[in-house]
Amino acid sequence: MDYRKYRQAHRLRVVLNRQQHPFIECQICTRRYNTTPTVIPRMLVGCGHTVCQECIQELIDLENGLVLCPFCRKATSLADGDTTQLPINYAVMDIVQ
Ligand SMILES: [Zn+2]
Ligand SMILES: [Zn+2]
Repeated sequence: MDYRKYRQAHRLRVVLNRQQHPFIECQICTRRYNTTPTVIPRMLVGCGHTVCQECIQELIDLENGLVLCPFCRKATSLADGDTTQLPINYAVMDIVQ
């Protein structure tokens, strides 16, 4: 990571810590996102909200492979109920890493 990017990320992290910004923790289980597979921030592509992987696993309806967003109730469909195919929210990952 180059120095400028590092400085920006650092400043952002300081601001976020100061505000106890909810963006860096899962809004369902309140665990802080990190690179551990269970709490990786994954984006629900149907609406763009982010939830940790373990919570998505709880939310998924395995019969039809649909995840209903707990915030806006929009559905994201997952073939085979495979949550790992959802994109990782790298904006969040950059902040919490
Ligand atoms: Zn969670
Ligand atoms: Zn949503």
